[in-house]
Amino acid sequence: MNIKQYHFLIVGAGLYGATFAYEATRRGLRCLVIEKREHRGGNIYCENIEGINVHKYGAHIFHTSNKEVWDFVNAIVPFNRYTNSPIANYKGELYNLPFNMNTFYQMWKVKTPGEAQLIINEQRQKALDDMRSRGYSSPRNLEEQALLLVGKDIYEKLIKGYTEKQWGRKCVDLPSFIIKRLPVRLTFDNNYFNDKYQGIPVGGYNRLIDGLLTGIETKVNVDFFEDRAYWESIADKVVYTGPIDQYYNYQFGHLQYRTVHFETELLNISNYQGNAVINYTEKDVPYTRVIEHKHFEMFGADVDSIHKTVVTKESSTEWQPGMEPYYPVNDERNNAIYEKYRILADRETNVHFGGRLAEYKYYDMAPVIEKAFHDVNSLVKE
Ligand code: FAD
Ligand code: UDP
Repeated sequence: MNIKQYHFLIVGAGLYGATFAYEATRRGLRCLVIEKREHRGGNIYCENIEGINVHKYGAHIFHTSNKEVWDFVNAIVPFNRYTNSPIANYKGELYNLPFNMNTFYQMWKVKTPGEAQLIINEQRQKALDDMRSRGYSSPRNLEEQALLLVGKDIYEKLIKGYTEKQWGRKCVDLPSFIIKRLPVRLTFDNNYFNDKYQGIPVGGYNRLIDGLLTGIETKVNVDFFEDRAYWESIADKVVYTGPIDQYYNYQFGHLQYRTVHFETELLNISNYQGNAVINYTEKDVPYTRVIEHKHFEMFGADVDSIHKTVVTKESSTEWQPGMEPYYPVNDERNNAIYEKYRILADRETNVHFGGRLAEYKYYDMAPVIEKAFHDVNSLVKE
């Protein structure tokens, strides 16, 4: 007979914890969710300022090609037609992103894919020749990868400064995979993602979290570590979504993160920059990008329906204990430390680790949902 009050104690009310709780509850299992922040939602939480949903922990755009995930989230809250099409500002010059025919026109005034291809090929060949003259033929770092992908002009204006600000490291010291995910297109298409589906929940991300957690007991302002023995005693299994190194008392050392600093302002104008996301790609501007939140949910004439706007300047710095961890730094040193924690985690029978902090993995939202589906299926079968 089950004598514990709950089947699952879920530590963390982020997207992973909320999806897990939803799926487990749907299967008739009793869940309690505890969250140390004063609100639910983890990093997708929005704060409403003057009728505008402000992405408090960084701009979030939902995108996926997985129809099951898209149908799942849309059944909880409908998504709008937002398509991410950021602009890059380099020393006052504006360029469309990702790298496409609009960018190539702005950079070189070329009007056809053939003309653009000629310039890109010429610059790529030069990068390849330089590499070969130094004795190797495949890229060893992000700089070489970028030069082979788009050539020198785009690398210098749109990649180098942004990347070095974002990661706090020189492009020659960064792994090449970071840049491979940016699309390069010979069409006039400013859609940042290649996925089939994308959008923002109508009414903001809190609707998604509230929908997932409807009818599920949730306690905020509760830190698992303040009374660990008690929380462990009330459920058959703990689903832990916090930092894995903290769970194991940092016994193998701290994992590193990049953290993001947000400077948010409410302005008395209806439209500040005409787009949700503008990247500042030169190294001398201290922030990486400026977000104008209303453009995620207000389009066309609706933009002027509120004569106010909220803008956030984002800058990225090295994480120190006590700061919010945002981007895992999946370099060799950190991956090796994580591996030691993972071995301990794999031996646990009553604790399951899931999500961005517990798996030390830079998950986007849709993969987090997929992983929670998968984990509930395997844990509930046992
Ligand atoms: P989290 O959201 O971090 O949730 C974990 C929760 O656990 C937190 O609420 C935390 O407070 C709580 N917790 C931790 N420790 C304890 C404890 N001891 N006791 C109680 N509670 C605890 N994804 C996209 O798909 N598109 C985007 O555009 C995008 N943009 C992003 C921009 C930024 C700046 C960042 C950082 C991420 C972005 N992501 C984006 C990724 C997205 O945020 C994650 O996929 C998602 O939020 C991960 O959910 P999670 O539940 O794993 O983690
Ligand atoms: N990037 C860049 N210039 C830009 C935008 C992105 O050089 O204007 C590079 C940068 O190295 C970044 C990577 O492309 O880390 C991936 O960009 P993405 O927008 O996918 O990063 P995210 O913030 O989602 O991790």
